[in-house]
Amino acid sequence: MKDFSERINALTPEQRAVFELLRKSSRKKPARPGAPPPLERRTGAEPAPLSFDQERLWFLQQLDPASVTYNIGTVTRMEGRLDVPAFATALNEVVRRHQIWRTSFPLVDGRPVQAVAPVLRIEMPVVDLVEVDGARREAVALALAREGALRPYDLQRGPLLRALLVRLGEGEHLCLLAMHHIVTDWISSQIAWQEMAVLYQAAREGRPSPLPEPPVQYGDFAVWQREWLQGETLEHHVDFWRRELDGVPQVLELPTDRPRPASSTGRGRREPVAVPPRIADPFRALARQEGATPFIATLAAYSAVLFRVSGQERFLVGSPNANRNRPEIQGLLGFFLSQLVFRADLAGDPSFRELLGRAKKTAFAAYAHQELPFGKIVEALRPERDPSRAPLAQVDMQLVEAGPSSWIEVAGLRLSEVPFGEGLPKFDVSVSLLDGAEGIRGWFEYSLDLFDPPTITRLAESFASLIEQVGQRPDARLSDLRPLSEAARQQVLVEWSGAAAAGPESESPERSIAAQAARTPGVVAVVCGERRLTYGELDARARELAGCLRRLGVGPDVLVGLCAERSPEMVVGVLGTLKAGGAYVPLDPSYPEERLSFLAEDSGIRVLLTRGELRSRFPDGRFRIVDLDALEGARELDGDGPEAPPESLAYVIYTSGTTGRPKGVMVSRRGLAGYLVWAAKTYPRGSGSLLHSSISFDLTVTSLFVPLLRGERVVLVPESEGVEGLAAALRAGEGLSFVKLTPSHARALGRQPAGRTRSLILGGEALTGEDLAPWREAAPETLVCNEYGPTETVVGCSLFAAPAGELGPGPVPIGRPVAGARMVLLGRSFQPVPLGAVGEVFIGGPGVARGYLGRPELTAERFVPDPFGAAPGARLYRTGDLGRWRPDGTIEFVGRNDFQVKVRGYRIELGEIENVLAAHEGVR
Ligand code: AMP
Ligand code: MG
Repeated sequence: MKDFSERINALTPEQRAVFELLRKSSRKKPARPGAPPPLERRTGAEPAPLSFDQERLWFLQQLDPASVTYNIGTVTRMEGRLDVPAFATALNEVVRRHQIWRTSFPLVDGRPVQAVAPVLRIEMPVVDLVEVDGARREAVALALAREGALRPYDLQRGPLLRALLVRLGEGEHLCLLAMHHIVTDWISSQIAWQEMAVLYQAAREGRPSPLPEPPVQYGDFAVWQREWLQGETLEHHVDFWRRELDGVPQVLELPTDRPRPASSTGRGRREPVAVPPRIADPFRALARQEGATPFIATLAAYSAVLFRVSGQERFLVGSPNANRNRPEIQGLLGFFLSQLVFRADLAGDPSFRELLGRAKKTAFAAYAHQELPFGKIVEALRPERDPSRAPLAQVDMQLVEAGPSSWIEVAGLRLSEVPFGEGLPKFDVSVSLLDGAEGIRGWFEYSLDLFDPPTITRLAESFASLIEQVGQRPDARLSDLRPLSEAARQQVLVEWSGAAAAGPESESPERSIAAQAARTPGVVAVVCGERRLTYGELDARARELAGCLRRLGVGPDVLVGLCAERSPEMVVGVLGTLKAGGAYVPLDPSYPEERLSFLAEDSGIRVLLTRGELRSRFPDGRFRIVDLDALEGARELDGDGPEAPPESLAYVIYTSGTTGRPKGVMVSRRGLAGYLVWAAKTYPRGSGSLLHSSISFDLTVTSLFVPLLRGERVVLVPESEGVEGLAAALRAGEGLSFVKLTPSHARALGRQPAGRTRSLILGGEALTGEDLAPWREAAPETLVCNEYGPTETVVGCSLFAAPAGELGPGPVPIGRPVAGARMVLLGRSFQPVPLGAVGEVFIGGPGVARGYLGRPELTAERFVPDPFGAAPGARLYRTGDLGRWRPDGTIEFVGRNDFQVKVRGYRIELGEIENVLAAHEGVR
């Protein structure tokens, strides 16, 4: 060790600084107590085995021999007059000193061993770019370097080291040193440059190498590691890691911008991150106060940000581990670098101070067992093999203390590293930080397979903003911190969320249809098989019914049951009820009798409209039953009567309830009118629409009303005709304006694209490009409209529209809020989530229903005061749907936060089914 300290003393101050940096970064973690055997030079000429981490890397390389994922290159700028032969001598002396840079990995009995070439001369071609145009010179040089760095290596034969010198000018060169990771690591390259500087100076002066021979070689380390890490010692460490990582998910599901390819293409990029001293200082002070290192504090902040984006409370974060704790190996070249994994635990919405405490405990325990190579941890835990993901940790972080300078000066040369090697990410996202006088700075590196640059820029901003906030409010729960900058908040809350104010007062559908009837009384409004109703007839019949209903006491907020199969009478029933000022309650005739009588009972309808034999389904006496086929004595035309107030109800539609009891959603006339005016304006015009779905499903509102508002026709497809009927109607329909379907319907239709239908409106369930495959191919011009919205906020609240031919595979977004609707994505404690992060969809605006009929508690739970609402008393409906903002301001539907499912577009609470099952005597 004496020569070692002599050697250090011989260094210039800058050289010293670099050495100190190296020492610190390899020592910052406490070593495990206990006494490993001494690391000594081995005797005998047997080739050494591979170290554990080398073996793992070797194995990964065999899986994909052409992959360049483990190619490492550094580019160094050399300013000043370069003595090329002296530099080549210096480089080759480093190669002579360190066996590992002369090593290749031939197979002996099927297993790789470390074969050291007795002599290896590294050629250093010089490419002269002096004649290249000055502006392009550097780019050309870097392209050459990249090409050199990314060529595959032959591990069996070697050499695994390449050098290239590019001459940019009289006093400027770039030097590429490229290697396979299996013989080097980041610290090795720092050491090598340090040594080359010393050797270059000696060569210039014609002196022999002043450096002492390394006490041991990499092969000695490999033998030592294998002797030590076996039996009980190995078990001890493996045990710890098994326990430590038990039950922690081995995949962190970050929301990606693109579907994950089956295996990574290896393309990546970097985006900068900067935390200025003003913000970094209080953060560091907090860390000190809590006895945590800057690394641990930064790790905690990083996991908090990842949690925010993914919503996942538990996951693993990797970090490179220099793994050079033993003094004998501190000056060696070779692949020592290992990976440590840290458990992130965000459960229970902790404060940052508490999170820091957790991170500290986890990190110290991990450090105490850091000697176990990462490969052994993977072996012990056996994660599912997935070539598209790094094992155990798909996110990574490193933080290095910044040295006083990042360059070396030697014999009139100034050496500095050129950022390079960008674009070979080994993780989904990794962050590399330098902690120093200029704050905490560095970059986020990410896979371009998964993310677009703006997404990562936002991640970096969110990271910096979190560090700022926790420095000020360490005891606030993380959910109480602002996840967004003011500008970002403004963007999602104001620009993208849709109009905050109530939309314009819209004319009611019954008035608009009456006006249409006055203009075009003879035009066909409703078609059902051979039957036709003109606008004049439709309006007259609806008026008759309205008169009859009024006499039965129907008016604002009085409910009228409607149980009829698709027929002109059904349409009259809906319209007549609205004209009377009442609200219709659809009772689907296909429902079982018990459910129908429950709905009739629960809603407290005063009148029931029905036809023919359906009448026998309902008990007599509870409400008046009106036969739609025999409207007795309603002949006097009493006009349209007074218009019902906009806040009174238009309809009550029942949806599945968790407790086993369906719940009636009370939709106001204002809400319905607002939606219809928007839809009539937005959807393409044509001959009309097909009505093929049940009116007990709010999706049907669109197909029923929109054509009638525009003087088009509604073509009814009877229940009895099923999907075939729909397909036939589609083929027959000349220039239909639109057909509204659930994605399930679309799939059931199969390969029968409605070529002449102007547009396809899909809603009620998540839509994917695959659902539309036939349209994408056969009718690429059909406009596809993905409409999203729960019954509680009137049919549709957001829309994404694109021609079928423009849609790719994968999820189709649900788009932007429609006129009048307001959508926000909120995290816990009602804070808007940042772009890209998953949040719950909350919907506001005039379309928000009054609530659930007769269920004030349930109403209070789901319809909440709007914390951002400009209007007093504004409410938001919390949907239970999960979504995220895409960079273009559209929303992507992600899933549900509960147990609601959709079966053929119908909403079903699994709780309802569970309750029914539990009620069965055979179920316990
Ligand atoms: P409903 O009340 O029957 O209209 O069902 C509303 C629920 O259906 C929503 O809360 C979503 O879960 C789902 N849903 C409706 N439209 C869409 C859509 N376009 N994409 C994904 N899910 C949808
Ligand atoms: Mg809906």
